[in-house]
Amino acid sequence: AKHLPSSYQSPVRVVLRVRPFLPSEIDANGERSIPCVNLLDSFRGVGEEVTVHLKDQWTSRSECYKLDSFFGQGDRVGQIFQQEVSAVIPGVLRGLNATVFAYGATGSGKTYTMQGAEGEPGMIPLAISAVLSSCENTEDCSVEISFFEIYMDRCYDLLEPKAKEIIAMDDKDGRVRLKGLSWAPIRSMDEFHEVFDTGVQRRKVARTGLNDVSSRSHAVLAIAVTNGAVKGKLNLIDLAGNEDNRRTCNEGIRLQESAKINQSLFALSNVIYALNNNQPRIPYRESKLTRILQDSLGGTSRALMIACLNPASYQEAVHTVSLAARSRKI
Ligand code: ADP
Ligand code: MG
Repeated sequence: AKHLPSSYQSPVRVVLRVRPFLPSEIDANGERSIPCVNLLDSFRGVGEEVTVHLKDQWTSRSECYKLDSFFGQGDRVGQIFQQEVSAVIPGVLRGLNATVFAYGATGSGKTYTMQGAEGEPGMIPLAISAVLSSCENTEDCSVEISFFEIYMDRCYDLLEPKAKEIIAMDDKDGRVRLKGLSWAPIRSMDEFHEVFDTGVQRRKVARTGLNDVSSRSHAVLAIAVTNGAVKGKLNLIDLAGNEDNRRTCNEGIRLQESAKINQSLFALSNVIYALNNNQPRIPYRESKLTRILQDSLGGTSRALMIACLNPASYQEAVHTVSLAARSRKI
């Protein structure tokens, strides 16, 4: 893809984001925990590569990993969007597919990064807004969104009442299609918020009727742009938490959920590794997630994985960053 800046040349860029400390993580004396991710000790290497330094505040163990870029506690989502995502929007209007993943443990800031919060729009509203304004200046351009989640390898349409299950079907070309998935036309930010907020509410209570199930499913917001005869797509994905099973005492359904989550995150990381290292065979078929994303990973598609970190947990940081780093080009 000639029109993209050189920083976007690898099929999947892997960057790091460290969230700020939360009020609850600052102790009674007003002292913050010492960050275990010491971005001050990290450095930018040759080309665009960075080396991230992780350091355990208690045992003084430390490890270094190479990634494509990092964003610190003071960096806002808008900055990540500007540096890493905005360049693909013109491509999407020309028929390119692209994907942004938020990856990390529960509590690391994935949903905050993708959805945003009061006063700080996340990747999803920023992308919609950018796509809408590019489309406005283009004749015969329309935008639609779909919003679904993948839980235990099943897909649920969050734009339908009660998050209706949809069946992923194999096409004759061996690809998976979500037949019957709803697409809502979006003409303004108000229209987007109305549709999206309803979906977000549905995600919170879907399936079990219980709250807080969202960290155990992958949520996919897809923006489809039809520009005359070409169709491009941007997927924005809030991945399920990559909890380390050896350290959480999961049982029963929780254990089955974790097994599925780990399996799909591992399959995703294998696909990204294979793409970034020009391997002849890309193992898309090993999970529902990678099969659904096959048209948006590899080929002319571009993707970004944002590894999200809680600044206070060394174990979690090592777990997340080591998996993220192993998907990069080596
Ligand atoms: P996850 O989706 O990975 O489980 P959340 O996005 O829910 O994590 O974030 C966990 C908590 O941290 C939430 O209370 C959220 O508001 C807060 N948080 C995350 N990222 C930021 C940030 N960049 N700035 C301020 N607060 C944040
Ligand atoms: Mg979340």
